[in-house]
Amino acid sequence: MSALPNYTAQRARFLAAVARLHGALTSYPHPLTGPQGEALFTDVAVIGDPHAERIMLVISGTHGVEGYYGSDSQIAWLDTMDDRLLPAGTALVMLHLLNPWGAAHLRRVNEDNIDINRNFIDFRQPVPATPAYAQWHALYHGDRAEADRLLTAALQNSGWPAIKRVVEAGQYQYADGIFFGGRQPGWSHQTLQRIIAAHLSHATTVLSFDLHTGAGAWGHPMLLAIAEKPVPAHQWGKRLYDQWLTLLFTGAGRDSDTGVTATATGYVSQFLLESLPQTQMLPLVIECGTYAGEEMHRRVREDHWLHLQGDPASAAGEAIKQQLTEGFWPADRDWRELVAFRTRQIFMRGWQGLTAHQA
Ligand SMILES: [Zn+2]
Repeated sequence: MSALPNYTAQRARFLAAVARLHGALTSYPHPLTGPQGEALFTDVAVIGDPHAERIMLVISGTHGVEGYYGSDSQIAWLDTMDDRLLPAGTALVMLHLLNPWGAAHLRRVNEDNIDINRNFIDFRQPVPATPAYAQWHALYHGDRAEADRLLTAALQNSGWPAIKRVVEAGQYQYADGIFFGGRQPGWSHQTLQRIIAAHLSHATTVLSFDLHTGAGAWGHPMLLAIAEKPVPAHQWGKRLYDQWLTLLFTGAGRDSDTGVTATATGYVSQFLLESLPQTQMLPLVIECGTYAGEEMHRRVREDHWLHLQGDPASAAGEAIKQQLTEGFWPADRDWRELVAFRTRQIFMRGWQGLTAHQA
């Protein structure tokens, strides 16, 4: 078994990469601590002109444990940069670990069992009703043996795709359920609002990347634009990336063969679009495939039960953490090399397009 990743060590590497480039750092302290009592932060580093009109934004760790891929990608990209050579009017904004609690505790969700990428809805409106989830909720709470029996039966009778379509869409009714979107803006949601106001709202053009793992084919990073409906910036995205970019439109009844859930609500991408209506905003997602969807569900569900009824600090808990971490950040050397290579290509083309951009 490989050593589990460590939030504090990862953050130190990120901060060192930022310091080498004389980046301006703003740290947003999280109210809770890591499993060893360590302090937690979401960090924002601005490389280049803080008033830049054109910004490349890179977000890691929306899904906690996926942030080790994200952070490594951010550090690798920073290491290719020379702050003295940035074109005028451009800046790189690195948002490091949007869900630091999840990263430190090796969870996909946050401290409130909230899936941050379902939490970016407008809570002034009634939350989405997700009645179809109710029939599956028994797989995720209550008596464990009974829940496992129900899962086996559901997989036999309905099949994994039918369960996935409902469950992974997110739900807003069961705080102890899976893919819970929350009943109010979580800490990460509120923090992203502050970050947008402080670091992005002045820009005319923002190209953003939200870095994820765990869906799609093994070792294949997908480049996606996820939105509820087409926006003008999608055309810019297609000119930039051509066949590499998949437009994924979300909503009730929508489907996608990418492995990313099209029925879901509350994505970060949609929130960025709505938060910066005056900005030419192109929110992209990189999603690196790991294990098959049903196997990933098994690992995420084990971790869900561990935090509901188990002891994450126990030996059994550590084994579940190993499985979950391997699911979202495979130790396989070739996997890591491939996703790093492809992620750098995506950043490079985006950066070149942004810096040459005549909006
Ligand atoms: Zn994710």
